[in-house]
Order: sequence, then C-alpha cells, then structure tokens
Amino acid sequence: MNVITIAPFYTASGVNHPNTPRTPQAYINKTREMLKAHNIAIELAETGDFAGVPCMLEWNQSIDLDKNVGDIRALCEPSLPFGNAIPVIFGIIYQAEVYGAAIPTDYAGNGGKRWPPYIVINLQLQSRFNAVLLHELIHAAYFSKAYLGKPMPDHDANPTSIFAACAPDKNSDRSLTQNFLPALHVAALRSAAFATFRA
Ligand SMILES: [Zn+2]
Repeated sequence: MNVITIAPFYTASGVNHPNTPRTPQAYINKTREMLKAHNIAIELAETGDFAGVPCMLEWNQSIDLDKNVGDIRALCEPSLPFGNAIPVIFGIIYQAEVYGAAIPTDYAGNGGKRWPPYIVINLQLQSRFNAVLLHELIHAAYFSKAYLGKPMPDHDANPTSIFAACAPDKNSDRSLTQNFLPALHVAALRSAAFATFRA
C-alpha cells in the first residue's frame, strides 16, 4: 500500500478560531475515506511535544500568500519529522476567500528555499464537502518531483470532482456533491514525492 504522511502544524493565530476543533479532522477524515478505496493510507507525523498534538507555530498574524507564507514555512523546520512528510499548516489565510493552497518549490514567497511542496489550509472557511485537503494534496502531487517537467493539469470541469475549481461551495446547486476522484489524480498521489510504498 501507499502511505501519505502529513506533518500537521497550527499557527497561534488560528488556534482559537471556532472552526479549529472541527475543520482539520473533517478534512483529514474525508481524505482518508476517499483514498482508502485506492489502498492509499494517510498517516499523521508527530510534530509537537506531545503525541497527537500538532506543533503550534509562534505566528500571531494571518498567513498572507503574497507576503509571509515562506516565513511561516520556515518556522516548521525544527519540528519537521525525518522523511518525506508533507507539511500542512492550518491557520487564518489573509486572502479570505481562499480555502487552501499548495505552495510549489519555486514559489517566489519561499525566498529561494528549495522546500518540497507544502500546504496551507484556511480555518476561517469550512468547505461543506471537506475535500480541501485532498484537493491541495493533488496540486502538491503534481508539483512534487515525480512530476517535474510535466504540466499541472487544469481543474476538472466536472463539478463533482475533488479536483474541480477551488471554491465549489459557491455553486448555487445545493444538491451537488464533491465525491469523485478521477484515476489520473490517484496515480499522481501514489507517485508523489510525499508518498511512500510499504509492502
Ligand atoms: Zn485547486
């Protein structure tokens, strides 16, 4: 089976948000549920001082994708586990309409650091489909080294796809669900630099 290891972090600014107790777990559960059928497991790495408690980053501002996301990623360094876990930082994103973002290695905001792709998730929003983490993992898989040189596919036109445009909640059709995971994206996740094969 393939195992994707997530290294979870919180910013101090996000930790008291009302969505904090619910959103990260809902997003992780949905990711697990969708990938289980494909024999891909999700594992959480220890980042904090106590088992099961993620590292809290001393960052009291919001996460500004244009200004400081690299500074926040740098704070993760001392608490990152060995191996290829992908950092996922839960906090308040300054760009308030953004549910989450995957940050590629060559992103200007990384200040030249050659970090593998990482993810930030906005605690201010809670997607009713809970697919945000899985959606961003797919972006990160395409960004990761296994796919260097290949173009990132566009978002799927099918609105029920996990990889449909980033804000499906805005769709007025309340009957819509987001539960379709195309095989192409499963293959990308399986061969991502942050996935490990275990016999
Ligand atoms: Zn997207």
